[in-house]
Amino acid sequence: MRILVTGGAGFIGSHLCDRLLAEGHQVVVVDNLITGNVENIAHLAGRDDFHFIRHDVSNFIFIPGELDAVLHLASPASPNPTSPFGYPQLPIQTLKVGALGTHNALGVARAHNARFLLASTSEVYGDPQVHPQREDYWGHVDPIGPRSVYDEAKRFAEAITMAYHRYHGLDTRIARIFNTYGPRMRLDDGRVVPNFICQALRGEPLTIYGDGSQTRSFCYVDDLVDGLYRLLTSDYHEPVNLGNPVEMTISELAAAINRLTRNQADVQILPDRRDKADPQRRRPDISRAKQVLDWQPTVDLEAGLSKTIADFRARL
Ligand code: NAD
Ligand code: UDP
Repeated sequence: MRILVTGGAGFIGSHLCDRLLAEGHQVVVVDNLITGNVENIAHLAGRDDFHFIRHDVSNFIFIPGELDAVLHLASPASPNPTSPFGYPQLPIQTLKVGALGTHNALGVARAHNARFLLASTSEVYGDPQVHPQREDYWGHVDPIGPRSVYDEAKRFAEAITMAYHRYHGLDTRIARIFNTYGPRMRLDDGRVVPNFICQALRGEPLTIYGDGSQTRSFCYVDDLVDGLYRLLTSDYHEPVNLGNPVEMTISELAAAINRLTRNQADVQILPDRRDKADPQRRRPDISRAKQVLDWQPTVDLEAGLSKTIADFRARL
């Protein structure tokens, strides 16, 4: 296949490009580098089967030649309001890429009669009142809250994707991605794994927002990319949760990272971010992915963190 990846210079997108190329496909990346980095795809430069176009997909996208699939990953993704790369600092860009960018990416797919995959998010469930989260849960999202620029853009993106499927007959997929981590995340991304690893490698205390009892379920990027690839090559149109169902508290994550880096500086408790709509609990129910895609994560936290720490150590 010849495959367009929007956001392909980002963290997940660049790993996805590696996988697609390894499977023998040709890849075209369109990315405006707003939160991504060309370093993530520098190793692919000069290949005949890889092409990079710097462009904002919230504007009309033109791709010459044939396309068999469009994978739409372009979007800021970090909720941290103190990082310049977090979506609270990029509110209009985030809303535009989720809405206009998804519309344009769907338009490219339709023009080329290509299949389409949307990178959606567990944030469509908001601060969930149902636990673990199944795909038939409609969510608990504040439409004007601090996370709304991301959550509502992704909810719109899912809605327009299903509209293109139902009304135009487009061959679409929706992946609801839960917290994913791994090599190539920005050092200054602001999400919890990059923050904690950078702090630990500098010998600083890890900054925990609140009492650390909030939970997340962390998926290693290779597992996630495998789920995305299986979804792409399936014929399933409803949303599918992709994430690791092993749930832990943020305090437990901090302890694991301090242990693996031998950081003695322990943790620093900062004010909680409940006022920033920080979800208290999050864990995917992956029954659907198991059944439809025969997929489940295989990399445990210690193995995934060790690879991520090695990558961060080399870049710091
Ligand atoms: P990332 O910031 O590393 O990658 C996003 C990429 O999209 C960047 O390269 C950025 O430059 C590009 N981009 C953003 N707006 C663009 C625009 N208007 N035009 C062109 N390119 C644009 O983040 P990531 O963690 O790799 O996330 C990738 C996708 O996966 C996002 O859609 C995100 O919402 C989704 N997702 C990620 C996670 C996670 O835990 N990493 C969880 C849920 C969903
Ligand atoms: N968090 C933290 N310290 C940090 C960064 C994040 O305690 O330095 C917490 C944050 O409050 C949230 C969890 O870690 O409860 C996960 O945050 P992240 O930004 O990674 O993404 P989210 O899952 O909230 O979208």
